[in-house]
Amino acid sequence: MKILEALLFVENPARPFHLEPMNKPQSAPLREAIAGVPGRYWERLADGRIPCDLCPRYCKLHDGQRGLCFVRARRGDEILLTTYGRSSGFCIDPIEKKPLNHFLPGTPALSFGTAGCNLACKFCQNWDISKARSFDRLQSEASSDAIVRAARATGSRAIAYTYNDPVIFLEYAVDVARPARERGVKNVAVTAGYISEKAREEFFSAMDAANIDLKAFTDGFYRALCSAELGPVLDTLEYVKRETKVWLEITTLLIPGCNDAPSEIAALSEWVASRLGPDVPLHFSAFHPDWKMHAVPATPRATLTRAREIAKSAGLRYVYTGNVHDEAGQSTYCHACGERVIGRNWYEITSLGARRQGPLLKLRRAMRRRVRREPWLMGGAADANRVWR
Ligand code: SF4
Repeated sequence: MKILEALLFVENPARPFHLEPMNKPQSAPLREAIAGVPGRYWERLADGRIPCDLCPRYCKLHDGQRGLCFVRARRGDEILLTTYGRSSGFCIDPIEKKPLNHFLPGTPALSFGTAGCNLACKFCQNWDISKARSFDRLQSEASSDAIVRAARATGSRAIAYTYNDPVIFLEYAVDVARPARERGVKNVAVTAGYISEKAREEFFSAMDAANIDLKAFTDGFYRALCSAELGPVLDTLEYVKRETKVWLEITTLLIPGCNDAPSEIAALSEWVASRLGPDVPLHFSAFHPDWKMHAVPATPRATLTRAREIAKSAGLRYVYTGNVHDEAGQSTYCHACGERVIGRNWYEITSLGARRQGPLLKLRRAMRRRVRREPWLMGGAADANRVWR
């Protein structure tokens, strides 16, 4: 029995699908401990409950109750975001780590997240942040102005909302993103795309680029391993691609025995090519045993390479491997002539092609400007000069 089938069996698929908040209404003292800023996307029902309309879980909250994400909670007659203005920490990451390979290549992104998550992935690779049920990890103060100033001071071209899903801290993310954009800093969402139709316009209108997880291509996987559904994620992907100007890339974490069957990868890739277009970059990244899936082995590099070949055969032009050293699978190639335009090894830029025309010209020019300003990106001025021969 495959690992996913085994999990489905253990999980008992006959059990009603869980979309309710996880915790029970809290006692009065705990209720008073709920503090935060007013959240958006909720309405009061006739029976007194308040459904949160931010994500497709639509948690119906009683007074004092928290949603499945833990960070949105009802106090009295409103829903609060309890992590507004508080971050779990900041990092300057290469934007390729998000991963985004076709947006501001080779630039640093000021990255931060808060706590909690609206998915319940058993394989979470960031569980210490996303599963946090206390806010001890959160710094007390991270105002939008301070974050934008930090981005500019560190030379970050973008702010990345990452580590946990920014959908659940929408109000905070949007309040950082708007002044950032006014001051020339781009905004990047790293998200599972589990957001309601009502809320997605506000969220994505504040973003310039997004890497959205497409965790698998079966509803069984989403239900068994994420306590979620596939359909809303596909809706978000189509919305972002067709109705916004947000630059879109997609990541699929391949987990041995769960979502790495060639037939599933082919179906996923064909869907991306036909519904989103062949130019949307797709990243297949390697799983490492974590959270509740320590018994599943890490993804072999050969699985990623095979997935990349399948996706390219399905018509996708820019397919990458991730979380392994694989220069061949992480470099960007001209889809028309096959020439390597940007060489990469993990997040490091290793080479730039000399080609001065073709479909990736804009991307190469951006990289060229970047390397001229900061030749260390390619290991020193000598290497940079070699590129511009
Ligand atoms: S954002 Fe949180 S509270 Fe709102 S529906 Fe989703 S999980 Fe529930």
